[in-house]
Amino acid sequence: MLGGVTPPDSPTADVPPDLLLTDVTVGDRPGRAVHVAGGRITWIGAAADAPRAGQVMAGEGALLTPAFVDAHVHATATGLALTGLDLHSRSSLADAVAAVAEAVRTAPPGILLGTGWDETGWPEGRGLTRADLDAVVGDRPAYLARVDVHSATVSTALLDLVPGIRDLPGASPDGQLRLDAHHAARQAAYGAVTAQQRAAAQAATLAEAARLGIGSLHEMAGPEVSSAEDLRALLVLARERPGPRVAGYWGELAERGGLELVRELGLAGAGGDLFCDGAFGSHTAALSAAYRDRPGTAGALRFATAQLVEHVRACTAAGVQAGFHCIGDAAVGQVLDAVGAVVAELGLPAVRACRHRLEHVEMAGAEAVERMRAWGMVASVQPAFDATWGGPSGMYAERLGADRAAACNPFADLADAGVALALGSDAPVTPMDPWGGVHAAVDHRTAGAGLRPFDAFDAATHGGWHAIGAETAAGPLAPGAPADLALWDTDATLSAVLDRRLRPGCRQLVVAGTPVRSL
Ligand SMILES: [Zn+2]
Repeated sequence: MLGGVTPPDSPTADVPPDLLLTDVTVGDRPGRAVHVAGGRITWIGAAADAPRAGQVMAGEGALLTPAFVDAHVHATATGLALTGLDLHSRSSLADAVAAVAEAVRTAPPGILLGTGWDETGWPEGRGLTRADLDAVVGDRPAYLARVDVHSATVSTALLDLVPGIRDLPGASPDGQLRLDAHHAARQAAYGAVTAQQRAAAQAATLAEAARLGIGSLHEMAGPEVSSAEDLRALLVLARERPGPRVAGYWGELAERGGLELVRELGLAGAGGDLFCDGAFGSHTAALSAAYRDRPGTAGALRFATAQLVEHVRACTAAGVQAGFHCIGDAAVGQVLDAVGAVVAELGLPAVRACRHRLEHVEMAGAEAVERMRAWGMVASVQPAFDATWGGPSGMYAERLGADRAAACNPFADLADAGVALALGSDAPVTPMDPWGGVHAAVDHRTAGAGLRPFDAFDAATHGGWHAIGAETAAGPLAPGAPADLALWDTDATLSAVLDRRLRPGCRQLVVAGTPVRSL
């Protein structure tokens, strides 16, 4: 059992002895019943033949599916966005500044955090600057992440919290920080969040996940995006009350002690957002050829290949899954070179057994796809990225040109090659929205690059369990599987929901056999 997840066979005291969900539509079959006990599915069949149970839930014909797994989430930042300043919908610079001013008036004292601003459609033709912020936040530290969260604008008071930040790569006098300066500012900003702010944010994320029918989250923690304290608190919160499970990842190189926390907290893997490059929006994803709209720039690799080899070697030798954030083709290629070096050294079976995973993997050509297949790797992908930034006039096309943009997020190539896929949101980069993710994976903005509907649904459910090495051989809705189920506000079959691109609300989430009341 990979850790961070509460094992289904060690239920908490709240788990009822058994539960029968009856008169439900399972997949495309109405009139079914599902019996669960000990946190697992024990029986599926016709409702008329169902065994008795201590607790019965009448589905009234509603669709029952495995609960979703969101395989890439930042719980605290997502919760801070849910409870805090969300600039995603601001359509001008003036509108964004007005929202910041309003937050200053209404938010409790302390650091002001916000996320989601995107200047690409703003009439002013520029993004937020430090001067814009200082004018409304005064002497309060403020950190406002751009929509891709790989750059941010900060106030002067936040800069003052980080000695030397003005000399780091990526620093800019206008307060729009990238690269190392951005990482330092983000660390200071989240370091300034109080334990109370953090706990409220994490609880808000778990409640929102439950509301959406998400039974498990993969939390992508790390020293640059959160902290060990943050991760530890989230795992405790998820364990101590009924609600979505959390599988934790910690993105720090083994040579810097990253594996120690994996062992201490029983995490699912050593990596996740172990940043091997940045993102397209901020021109920091590492490319093999320059950006179209910034010809002098091809992004940057953050590590030497030898460092990645050492990480994969240490993880493989320890039987621990490694994971990497890699977006541009140069970063994807570098990580795969490192995995290949360890395949040569420790052998294919040892590497395949770890199921090393790549996050985002947005530029993967035929060679990369073939290497991922051969080495038994997992592609953790975010279909909403394509929905948001793909297409002939989207941000990918602006940054990369039409040809390279059309090849981004090659879901069909990965699936057809037999590479295991897990879908995620990267919330708060895009909101948790599991049905939206499934539909976006099918309706890829590039013709022919999307997934078949049932494959997309499988990648959004079973794929997440496979990605942490905890899937059951018979699949997610079969006797023996963890009883993580979602009952939906529709009596349509799963085929119809997928065909008609419906997004039914979740009527009831069940995690490890326990009905999760509204949190
Ligand atoms: Zn992430």
